[in-house]
Amino acid sequence: MSMVTDAIVLHAFDYLETSRILRLATRDGGVLSVIARGARRSTRRFGSAMDLFAEGSATIAYRPGRDLHPLESFDVRAGHATLGNDLDRFMSAAMLAELVMRTMSESDHGAAFLALAGALARLQGRVGEEARAEGLASAWMLVSSLGVAPTIESCARCHATLEVDADAWFSAAAGGAVCDHCHASARAGRLLPAAARRTLADWLAGVDTPVPAALELRAHVRLLREFVQRHLTDDAELRAFAAWAERFVGRP
Ligand SMILES: [Zn+2]
Repeated sequence: MSMVTDAIVLHAFDYLETSRILRLATRDGGVLSVIARGARRSTRRFGSAMDLFAEGSATIAYRPGRDLHPLESFDVRAGHATLGNDLDRFMSAAMLAELVMRTMSESDHGAAFLALAGALARLQGRVGEEARAEGLASAWMLVSSLGVAPTIESCARCHATLEVDADAWFSAAAGGAVCDHCHASARAGRLLPAAARRTLADWLAGVDTPVPAALELRAHVRLLREFVQRHLTDDAELRAFAAWAERFVGRP
């Protein structure tokens, strides 16, 4: 059966003489591996820019139960080639693509796809620290779209409402902010200052918020890494994530 769906290229490599194999984030079928036969010989069916992060409409000969599906055509709408013009921008995009590749399931109903598409569009105009910070904000938005957002307003363990605009404990293991009582009994978590807590809430909600200072950004990256490893990737190695996180270190 043929499936026509919006898609973004998460990973691409040449296969044999003439073909290309792609990992696609699709709006309707989660992450799918497809083979574009003859893609390197003819650009007629597949467009000229079927590279990393290209976004468009894919027609896939979807075969339930299979690991690899023939790609019938791919109409590129946004090539996103300029994502590669700035290293921080590229690394942010690669980190987000990796998160999607590892976490998006076939039953995802498009929310993660839309979060990724939005992030790639916003990254276009950003360079350096702004691009890194956009990656961070978009990663939390993506986590939220996957339905595993951390709790911020109430205790993740006992559900007690937490004081607004105050410092709070944050425990990746518990699934978000925890009250003093739960923090004392669990003996885990780190202090999330009020400002950082507010920023995190804005990122999760997809609300524009000022970019925090470098030191604060680094603490946010640690928080994201702990949360993602705990709730999304089972401690699997995240290479693009590690390379992106490395960019925050040692920079004023
Ligand atoms: Zn509690």
